[in-house]
Amino acid sequence: MLFIGHSSCGAIKAASGDYAGLEPAIVKELDTIRIDKGVANIDGVTRNVHNQVADALADFADKVKEGHLLVVGAVYDFNNDMKQGAGKLKVIDVNGESDPARIKLLLAGDESKHGAY
Ligand SMILES: [Zn+2]
Repeated sequence: MLFIGHSSCGAIKAASGDYAGLEPAIVKELDTIRIDKGVANIDGVTRNVHNQVADALADFADKVKEGHLLVVGAVYDFNNDMKQGAGKLKVIDVNGESDPARIKLLLAGDESKHGAY
């Protein structure tokens, strides 16, 4: 399961501002984006990705625990807001792990098994 946010996201921009006066259907959608008001867009984007991963981990806890499901959160940063190169898809969350070095290990799991043969 893969959640992808992106830089310069209009939904995140709206959710981090005062949207109370917008149409009720839009307000209802924006209410589901749990980020702080006034945050930088890329920070709101990454927070939202982590939130989506956390929600999925709660919803599918059994499948994740059994090893049948990997929940991955990533940001497509076409603006280079994360200063790691424009146009990169940056994985920022794997099953709730957000430490870059540990993410690398988690994603390399199968590779390391192959190395043991
Ligand atoms: Zn967007």
